Order: sequence, then C-alpha cells, then structure tokens
Amino acid sequence: MKTANEIRSAFLDYFVKNGHTEVESSPLVPRNDPTLMFTNAGMVQFKNVFTGNEVRPYTRATTSQKCVRAGGKHNDLENVGYTARHHTFFEMLGNFSFGNYFKADAIELAWNLITKTFALPKDKLLVTVYHTDDEAHGLWKKVAGLSDDRIIRIPTADNFWAMGDTGPCGPCSEIFYDHGEGIPGGPPGSPDQDGDRFIEIWNLVFMQYEQVTKEERVSLPRPSIDTGMGLERLAAVLQGVHDNYDTDLMRALIEASADATNSDPSGAHAVSHRVIADHLRASSFLIADGVLPANEGRGYVLRRIMRRAMRHAHMIGARDPVMYRLVPALVREMGGHYTELQRAQALITETLRLEETRFKQTLDRGLKLLDEEEGKLGAGQPLAGEVAFKLYDTYGFPLDLTQDVLRGRNRTVEVDGFTAAMERQRAEARKAWAGSGEAATERVWFELKDELGATEFLGYDTENAEGKV
Ligand code: ATP
Ligand code: MG
Ligand code: MG
Ligand code: MG
Repeated sequence: MKTANEIRSAFLDYFVKNGHTEVESSPLVPRNDPTLMFTNAGMVQFKNVFTGNEVRPYTRATTSQKCVRAGGKHNDLENVGYTARHHTFFEMLGNFSFGNYFKADAIELAWNLITKTFALPKDKLLVTVYHTDDEAHGLWKKVAGLSDDRIIRIPTADNFWAMGDTGPCGPCSEIFYDHGEGIPGGPPGSPDQDGDRFIEIWNLVFMQYEQVTKEERVSLPRPSIDTGMGLERLAAVLQGVHDNYDTDLMRALIEASADATNSDPSGAHAVSHRVIADHLRASSFLIADGVLPANEGRGYVLRRIMRRAMRHAHMIGARDPVMYRLVPALVREMGGHYTELQRAQALITETLRLEETRFKQTLDRGLKLLDEEEGKLGAGQPLAGEVAFKLYDTYGFPLDLTQDVLRGRNRTVEVDGFTAAMERQRAEARKAWAGSGEAATERVWFELKDELGATEFLGYDTENAEGKV
C-alpha cells in the first residue's frame, strides 16, 4: 500500500521527470492577494504568472499546495464530518504550464499518471468536459479511449473556470472515480451528483481565453494549464477505501484523538474524531503560517475552527484540553514534508493549549444554557437569535458553533435575530463612543470597520451565516 507521503512524492516525481520544476507550497495566507482569505488552490501562488505580470525561470511547475477552504467563495467547513471527501485543510497536487504545453499534453500527462503510474482501472474512471469543448472531448476519446457515455458534457459554470470578472479563463475537465454501487450518489451532471459514489479526484483547467471586459473575450496567444488533485481523495482510491478519513494519514490522527480521549475511534464518537483530526490539521497549519486566534478576520476563522473541534472533544467526554496533545502525531505524519510544522511545533502547541484552556471555562456553561433554552422550544422551532447572540457575546460561541450543535438536533438558528442583536450592540458602542468627545477618530474607526465589512469583522461570510454550504 502506498502511504499519503509516498503518493505525494510519486506525483511530484512524475511531473519533475516530465520537465516540471518542483515548487514549494506557498503559505496559507496569500502573499499576492489581499482579497483572498486563505490559499484555496494550487494556482493561487501563480496568479500573476498566468496573467503575464510576473515571469519565473520555468514554464512548467508542479506543487503540493496547502489549501484551506473554510470561508469565502470555497467553504467546506460545513461539509466536514458529513461527506467522505471534504476537509477544511487539504493538499492539492498540481501541474502547471505557463504558456508551454496545452490541452493535449495535459490530458495525456494526467491519464498516464493515473492509469500507468498509479494503475487505476479504466472502467472506474469517468471524465467531464465543458459542453462546447469538442477539442477536449476528442482528446479524451483519443488518448484514453473512453466511450462517449464516459465523457460527460457539462453546461454549467462547474466546468468553466475564471480567475475573476476579467482575466484568464477557460473550460475545465474533471476526472471522477466510481467507488461503486451501494454508495448513494449519481454520476456528474445527474440530479444526485452531490452524493459520494462518484468522487471528483482531479480538475484540469484549460486557460485559453482572456476576459478583457464583461462583453469581450479573446483567445490567449499562449494558453496555459492549471490542474488540482486532492491528495486525500487520491490516497483513498489508491488505498482501496472510499472515505478520505480512512486513509493512513487521517487514520493516524483519528487514532491519536481516540487515544488522547480514551475513546473508540470508530464507535459512537467516530464523527467527532474525524472533525478533530481535520480541524487539528487546519488549525496547526494556519498557526504555522502566522495566523493566531482573534476576534476578526483570518484569526476569527481559525478560532471558529478550533472551537468547533473543542466542542467535539467535549462531546466525547474530554474534560481537559485535548488538541494540543495531538500535535506530535501531526508532526510525525506531516512534518517531514512540511518542515514548518516542526519549526512551529512549540507555538502550535501553546496556542492550542491556551485557547482550549480559556474556552473550556465558558464552553461548559454555554452548552448548559443552550440545552436549557432548547428545552423550551417546540419541535422544529428555531433558536431565537437573541439567545445565539448571548452565547456569542457572553460565552464566546461563534454563530456557526451554535448552528453546528443544533444541526445535529435538526434545529436552526434565527440568523436575522442574531444579526439584529449584533447590529444593536455595535450601534450602542458607537453611541457610547460618540459621547466621549473623540468624534473624528471614532468616525474613521467605524468607517474602517464598515468598509472591511461583516466578513472581516465577524469572520464568516453571509453564505455561511445563513447556514448554507
Ligand atoms: P467538490 O465538487 O468535490 O467540492 P471542487 O470542484 O470544489 O470539489 P476544485 O475546486 O476543482 O474542487 O479543486 C480541485 C481538487 O481539489 C478537487 O478535484 C478535489 O480532488 C480537491 N478538493 C477540493 N475541495 C476539497 C476539500 N474540501 N477537501 C479535500 N479535497 C478537496
Ligand atoms: Mg467544492
Ligand atoms: Mg466539483
Ligand atoms: Mg472541481
């Protein structure tokens, strides 16, 4: 069996052998894009190379990129613990061509890697293409010999990638693995495609156009390639398991969580152990990249992830901090490739321990209040926003934590009421400040805060606040 560490190396080696330069993962806090909360794809560090604003000494690159999808456009926080294929932190394996090779080579390189190097059986694989992309359709037929019913034309934005309203864009082609009958979910393009039977493993983006203005799109003289494959999903396939959380690396972390809490890793608390394992990775890698828990912005996303994990530790029955004790297991599993984990080990451990110790004091009391308030509600009745706000304001419960607790009990939170209570408190703070005679500074301060908007201030986007994924 190939371990996740071996699979990562095999991927990188393959592309290096095929003329690519191995480039290190960029940090989770993007250096070149203040609008992006966290690095969420391999292409992020190459944005300016794709637009031509930056030149690198190579035109082919390969990476294993650290990604976090827990806020903004891609938010998989609510999927963790519920699907077999989503993490908040994951590694995206990628190969990139900056005006060098294009579609034909990208498809051939990908196909050879998965069917020769990794020896995946062809009859388990399906691909999608953008509905008008006859060229990709033809190439999949020619290179892979796939029959027409295994090359699915998709008319939606899922198969058309764009960097933004303007800039490079183009069709994509995704490779899916069929984990077999018995697992709910339909093939890509079908109404029940969101199940976990057909799992998307690799996305190949063909950047062949530039959107100049809203109306005008031109062909790029030298089109580029950007691909991304989830290491954990590939590992699941190669290790003969369906679920990312059953791969060697995630298993080791789940075992560590079970050991630390004297609990059965696959018993009644299996979901909690998965969440803890996932959130341990996200928190530790974020801290290693310089994010610290805070009440707004990136630091608040980190805090929310940490507190969700702590709530799960509480559910398992842990009464003492747990997360910080799992750091050695993480460093053992991933510190070889990501040496920043070793360098930051002490900081990660201390940050987790401190946050756990502090939140512990209010977590128990907050959960008790939540139980009491819930007891007063009728079946299916949502929790009042005022209560959620009290939990936030007095007990340090991020809104999504309260939502996560209640989701397990089929209950929601009245988000409008929560937002109104939050607004009221802000307005009162504003008034109190206005009375202090520091009008000018105060105005600037609140304008700044308004400008940064709810996302930065609350640390969750509106999408998430509404409880949607
Ligand atoms: P999905 O539809 O399954 O949510 P996606 O289309 O959002 O995936 P892409 O943005 O195309 O994913 O990212 C490229 C690859 O990264 C995916 O094909 C998948 O293998 C992997 N990936 C994406 N999101 C996650 C995640 N949250 N956890 C683990 N792997 C992921
Ligand atoms: Mg997704
Ligand atoms: Mg997808
Ligand atoms: Mg995709």
